[in-house]
Amino acid sequence: MDKSHKPATIAAHAAGALDPQSGGVVPALQPSTTFLRDENYDLVRPDNIYSRDNSDNLRQAEAVLCALENAAETLLFPSGMAAIAAVFRTLPNGGTAILQSGIYWGTTAWIRDFCARREITLIEVDADDLAATCKTRKADLVFVETPSNPWLKTVDIQALADLTDATLVVDATAATPILTRALDHGADIVMHSATKGINGHSDVLAGVLSTRAKDATIWQAIKSDRKMAGAILGPFEAWLLIRAMRTLPLRVERMSQNAQVLAEYLMAHPKVENVYYPGLPSHPGYATATKQMQGGFGSLLSVLVKGDRTDALRVVGKLVLFLRATSLGGIESLVEHRHTIEPHTGIPENLIRVSVGIEDIDDLIADWAQALD
Ligand SMILES: *Cc1c(COP(=O)(O)O)cnc(C)c1O
Repeated sequence: MDKSHKPATIAAHAAGALDPQSGGVVPALQPSTTFLRDENYDLVRPDNIYSRDNSDNLRQAEAVLCALENAAETLLFPSGMAAIAAVFRTLPNGGTAILQSGIYWGTTAWIRDFCARREITLIEVDADDLAATCKTRKADLVFVETPSNPWLKTVDIQALADLTDATLVVDATAATPILTRALDHGADIVMHSATKGINGHSDVLAGVLSTRAKDATIWQAIKSDRKMAGAILGPFEAWLLIRAMRTLPLRVERMSQNAQVLAEYLMAHPKVENVYYPGLPSHPGYATATKQMQGGFGSLLSVLVKGDRTDALRVVGKLVLFLRATSLGGIESLVEHRHTIEPHTGIPENLIRVSVGIEDIDDLIADWAQALD
């Protein structure tokens, strides 16, 4: 499929995936783990040997993401964490990594543990101090998340890329490749938890890495690690992902519209202390987000209700359409009291994290109106 097509076209057509064997307009699900050789012992399909290496459904899903990301190459993993781990496992013992603080807690927890075991110097800095740290400290890797979860901090990817010689890895899960193409802004590798907005239906766990430079040493190491260590996405998950991504641009557009309206409504509500959303002009990251995100600011926002933990939990308990569950980026709206989940990381007790779905916005606002009442 022509790479110059717009994202909505690439997604709707799943980058051209069809089933030549049956003539089906959708790709077939092919679960085989192993592949035939002919009587001369040549592979029937030289690119298919064993499914820990690669398979058709995986390639088809990667082709969609690669085109959407404007990447040179894309690799899928069985979870977002597996993708992050594959990146960090390329670091040399005794190396140095700079990590943005106050990001997805699972990322921080795993990286801290890994770096301690491998004697890697880990420098954790707030989004606002990243530029200064990148200027003064030499590092092998810089890992940032934008917009960040749950603070919705925005990192200027291009500014950091201009400052550092380290490999710049961006977790752009909350933006999706529809709102931010991190590689176009200078990132070396972009990562997403495809479990979130990319799949968007809360029924597939997956992670993805895309690169600008196929031949980069780190990318070759990641590729080889995925195959040898076996961190590969199964064909059924890849097939579901292809199906889900056909509507990715549509879903992201509606979720961003809903989130923007809800953020503005909540910001004006007398029982709300503050709202963190990159689409609000009052948000510190608004200028960067406007420069770096196109077509909206995503589905994720955090609300500080007036009062304490009890008040926040009362609101969360009264919501009906916002299901009380972790995760984000799905078609159904979700709500979470982060302090209950991670009491030790400095999350305010009155913070409610919200993932806005594709429901009717009037229904979503009515739900918050009754919950805050
Ligand atoms: C969920 C998430 C991850 C981890 O992804 P999994 O698919 O759950 O392993 C990493 N980063 C961010 C920003 C996330 O939201």
